[in-house]
Amino acid sequence: MRANENFLKLEGSYLFSTVARKQREYQEKHPDKEVIRLSIGDVTKPLAPAVIEAMHKAVDEMAHEESFRGYPPEHGFDFLVDAIHRHDYEERGLDIAKDEIFVSDGAKSDCGNIGDIFGEGNTIAICDPVYPVYLDSNIMSGRTDIIYLPCRAENGFMPQLPEKKADIIYLCFPNNPIGVAASREQLKVWVDYANENGSLILYDSAYEAFVTDGSVKSIYEVEGARTCAIEFRSFSKTAGFTGVRCGYTVVPKALQFGDVNLNAVWGRRQATKFNGVSYITQRAAEAVYSEEGRRQTEETIAYYRRNARAIFDGLTEAGFKCYGAVNSPYVWLTVPDGMTSWEFFDDLLEKCQVVGTPGSGFGSCGEGYLRLTGFGNYEKTLEAIDRIKRVYSK
Ligand SMILES: *Cc1c(COP(=O)(O)O)cnc(C)c1O
Repeated sequence: MRANENFLKLEGSYLFSTVARKQREYQEKHPDKEVIRLSIGDVTKPLAPAVIEAMHKAVDEMAHEESFRGYPPEHGFDFLVDAIHRHDYEERGLDIAKDEIFVSDGAKSDCGNIGDIFGEGNTIAICDPVYPVYLDSNIMSGRTDIIYLPCRAENGFMPQLPEKKADIIYLCFPNNPIGVAASREQLKVWVDYANENGSLILYDSAYEAFVTDGSVKSIYEVEGARTCAIEFRSFSKTAGFTGVRCGYTVVPKALQFGDVNLNAVWGRRQATKFNGVSYITQRAAEAVYSEEGRRQTEETIAYYRRNARAIFDGLTEAGFKCYGAVNSPYVWLTVPDGMTSWEFFDDLLEKCQVVGTPGSGFGSCGEGYLRLTGFGNYEKTLEAIDRIKRVYSK
């Protein structure tokens, strides 16, 4: 037996464990100090009442033989697929069919699993800095021909077309960690490139619910995307489902590469390796689209957005250069001159008892930045901003 040695090629993911360890060590040395975490990458507010009600009802249905459900359809129950189709695509005038939507247990697994349907020898383009799943899942499968697309302040944190041809391109907007969204024009460049070169775009739209300024929510808003793009969506950040687990992936039937139709093979892949999302969870996801559900989840998004806005405004006032926040729960902060991301992380913890996430942990182009998040408590967030202002204001 030989194990998959590709796993040995992965770089250790020390980022979040090191952040947690440093916080713990500081707290042990200074038990009297209150540390505020602006590093949270998870939601903190409870599920919407409409969602809870739907889940309770679904639990009761499972208690009676007449309404009990066994294995769910592996692509999702019709009631949820219909709701997704109507609200996320049809109402927005986007041409996506119901059998192009595949309900899943979240965007992370789909972003990782999608590699099953790609052949060998592909060149992969990935933004830097980036959500680590795209890179690591490719390395695990032995795909090591990777092009990094630097996202720097000079180009508005937008990746530029690569010189070498990319076969598979990962894009995420509004993105994690920077928190910037993309316009139709900016994405059109990539859609045209993919269509001209026979490339595929993997579009992660996990933060679409945070878009406020007309930026793109779905890649299918861009003309030509149906023939070159797969889209990942999640209820995690939209409706606080990080612990419930539900998302979906759109694979248009127009995605034909040689003799292989990606919609057909993804359907086959899911039917073989995935047994569907629980009935209770799918009823919960359906409730996100109800009138009440939409209003309630929008309130929570607004709460996180207000946190991010407060961080952005407060730290800009303190003299920091900040990005993100507008269409995102994330603020991307330039660290003071002469410091690395980790040095500023330590300084902030020591002097303000505030925890961020060093930008360099998301890729080498993240060096010199720190990520702060709006997923915390509003009052605590304001307190953290005050502390930072007192120490760093010029
Ligand atoms: C949080 C997040 C997701 C969501 O993943 P789930 O598995 O659906 O919880 C996807 N992509 C990015 C970039 C994220 O930050």
